[in-house]
Amino acid sequence: MNQDLNAAKALPTLLLVDDSPAIHRLLAVKLKNEGIDFVAAYSGEEAISVANDIKPALVLLDVNMPEMDGFQVLHALKADPETHDIPIIMLSGDDEPEAKVRCFELGAMDYVTKPFQVAELRARISNAIRISKLVELLEKQASIDALTGLGNRAFFDRRLEEEVNKASRTSDSLTLVMCDLDHFKKLNDGFGHPAGDAVLETYAQILKDQLRTYDIPCRYGGEEFAIILPNTDSPASSMICDRIRVALEAAEWPKYPGMKATSSFGVTNISHDGSHDSAAWITAADQALYSAKSNGRNCIHVFENADNIVPAFKLAG
Ligand code: GH3
Ligand code: MG
Ligand code: MG
Repeated sequence: MNQDLNAAKALPTLLLVDDSPAIHRLLAVKLKNEGIDFVAAYSGEEAISVANDIKPALVLLDVNMPEMDGFQVLHALKADPETHDIPIIMLSGDDEPEAKVRCFELGAMDYVTKPFQVAELRARISNAIRISKLVELLEKQASIDALTGLGNRAFFDRRLEEEVNKASRTSDSLTLVMCDLDHFKKLNDGFGHPAGDAVLETYAQILKDQLRTYDIPCRYGGEEFAIILPNTDSPASSMICDRIRVALEAAEWPKYPGMKATSSFGVTNISHDGSHDSAAWITAADQALYSAKSNGRNCIHVFENADNIVPAFKLAG
């Protein structure tokens, strides 16, 4: 949310952390015309709290501060997934290699010794922001499936783990859906691979259209998709799956006369063995999907427990 606000803003926000008001004044004057929005923190504790709130584009962090020093702040910011990716430039009067190495090992992007030349600091700031944007872009590209634009398998694995952990902490409901295109091998054989690809792309678009912004549709692999639905119970997710099911069944394929595509769904809002292990969630959803496949396909089955997997509409009414 904060990141979105930041992205929409014209100026990148830089958090300056230093116990010395003189440094704040100096940088405010010297970097006034740099197109940077400054936010100030005068202690380590304040820095952590502000960084979490505003998600700055960069943190300039003094090493020598009373109470919580720069090493501790750096460690805390890097340990928190919310602030982990924010680039941090250390500011220090200590020119010893040990201090520098320690900062780099803790995840600092750069280290500038005081007194510094403002021109050099300015160049290092813009370099750090540029590198962190590139890293963000690369990470994003590495998470996306090229054909469908959905999250890929690696992205799914990461997000499922996060959402399962979150749901187990908060006791919020969580649903995992595995969906698989029906008789897709036959469809490829009959109409050709470009037709199969068109179905995959259309299916991804249907998922994007039918899901809410905070739902997480991914391409699990091949013609199999996975959807993570935070704060959603089984009956609600069965309804969502049915909208997706109907949309694909109703899709028309003018380029491929006579082609029909359908999909089957396995839904769960508990793990296979009741654990908080994300792999056990996948096992449960897979078992429900297998049940949907063996009961005629183009339908939705729900995992209640290993001995009880039921068609969705017995639950959803
Ligand atoms: P079921 O209803 O039981 O799921 O049968 P199925 O034929 O869909 O399942 P199977 O696993 O036997 O075949 C999956 C097919 O999906 C085989 C593979 O060629 C095709 N496939 C996987 N990835 C792609 C892709 O990126 N593009 C295309 N066109 N086909 C793909
Ligand atoms: Mg299939
Ligand atoms: Mg398959």
